[in-house]
Amino acid sequence: MKISLVKKLSLAFLLTVIISLITASLISNYMIGKKFNNYLVNEHKAMEVKTATTINNLYNEKIGFSTASEDEILRYASAQNLYIQIKNINGEIIFTSNNLNSTQKTMMNSMMGSMMHNSLNTTDQYSEDKYPLKKGNKSIGTITFGYYNSSYFNSSAQTFIMTLNHSFLLSALIALILGLIISIFFSKQISLPLTKITSTANKIRTGDLEARSLVISKTKEIDDLSTSINYLAETLQKQELLRKRLTSDMAHELRTPLTNLKSHIEALLDKVFEPTDEILTGFYEEIQRLIKLVNGLNDAAKLEQATTLLNKSRFNLSLELDKIINSFKPLYETSGLKIYSELATNLEIFMDKDKFKQVIYNLLSNALKYSKENGEVLVTLKAFANTIIIEIKDNGIGISEKDLPFIFERLYRSDESRNKNTGGAGIGLTIVKNIVEAHKGTIKVTSSLGVGTTFIIALPKN
Ligand code: ADP
Repeated sequence: MKISLVKKLSLAFLLTVIISLITASLISNYMIGKKFNNYLVNEHKAMEVKTATTINNLYNEKIGFSTASEDEILRYASAQNLYIQIKNINGEIIFTSNNLNSTQKTMMNSMMGSMMHNSLNTTDQYSEDKYPLKKGNKSIGTITFGYYNSSYFNSSAQTFIMTLNHSFLLSALIALILGLIISIFFSKQISLPLTKITSTANKIRTGDLEARSLVISKTKEIDDLSTSINYLAETLQKQELLRKRLTSDMAHELRTPLTNLKSHIEALLDKVFEPTDEILTGFYEEIQRLIKLVNGLNDAAKLEQATTLLNKSRFNLSLELDKIINSFKPLYETSGLKIYSELATNLEIFMDKDKFKQVIYNLLSNALKYSKENGEVLVTLKAFANTIIIEIKDNGIGISEKDLPFIFERLYRSDESRNKNTGGAGIGLTIVKNIVEAHKGTIKVTSSLGVGTTFIIALPKN
């Protein structure tokens, strides 16, 4: 069974309130009960001492207790629920209150039953305390006070305990109502943005990639979720754009050579011209290009594995970079371009050498492919505390702002590069990025259309 967040949080909140109240009431009942018990015992003792003193004062050596004195002692006995017996020095009873009969005992027991047995742990047991009957410092008899423990609990004691428990009940009730209101308020604060985010996610799921979550919450997790959902939508939108672009790119790349081939073959079939070696070679080259293009697609699929197949070794990066630049020089010169380098010497690195060559090769080929007349390329190698930076800067056709975020995506080519008819498939930079990232490095690009492009690779020193 699925429970809504509001219900779940409210229940949890209420449960916490109830448990806290029960614990608090049990503990305070126990603690207060204990203290109260001690207090009552002390009070009882003080009352006995006071009564004993009064009895001593009322005693007259000659006549014993006068009738008035006896009445007074009886009043004490009944007021304090005491059985009072007074004996003279010979052990003869000279006074007894005789007031603690069985009816009274039953009454007291039933009174005890209605009180808090747990908190005031008193057993209904008969006890006696003895005090001397004195004249001056001379003991002339004994005063015995008999009582039931339950008689401690006079009505004010009961009222106190009852009031205490009532106040606990009342505060429980108030706390429950307040708790319920607060918990509903807080859980609504959590569930409302979640519902909104879910509805955005559902919109995205059904294809509305423009949908964005506008939830701004003070709860960190909810805010993170909202940002993540927006990021997801953006990524999906970008992927969708790329997919459309890829399909149209592929159609564009394949259509021209296929239409060429088709019209030429039609012409051959119509015997418009003879199948000369030259024409057949032209066909062959066109087909070769198509195969290259399709292979490029295949390579793009294999790219995912590139990161797991690294064959690392330690080599002199400065030397290797210099070698690659030198190998490019003749190619640059025949195209009327210049290539310069500023390389820090003797820098060593631990990485896949062939893959490193591929990175530089791709970037230098691009700088050449997307150059302008009198183009110049500068390669620099610098070492910092933890990183090695390689920069490849050209003054070629540049990349427009709209294309810049996509150039590392597979099969992406800018319109400008397409116009240059370089025959690229748009996966060179994807390979470069994958290799650099497989070595825990980063690649960045800055470019301005018609001015030039700079690729910056940062590799960790190791
Ligand atoms: P391609 O095979 O098309 O060169 P890449 O992945 O190497 O594929 O490059 C992707 C796109 O990035 C290119 O089509 C081009 O539009 C742009 N690009 C890459 N390098 C440069 C550069 N040095 N100058 C201008 N544009 C570049």
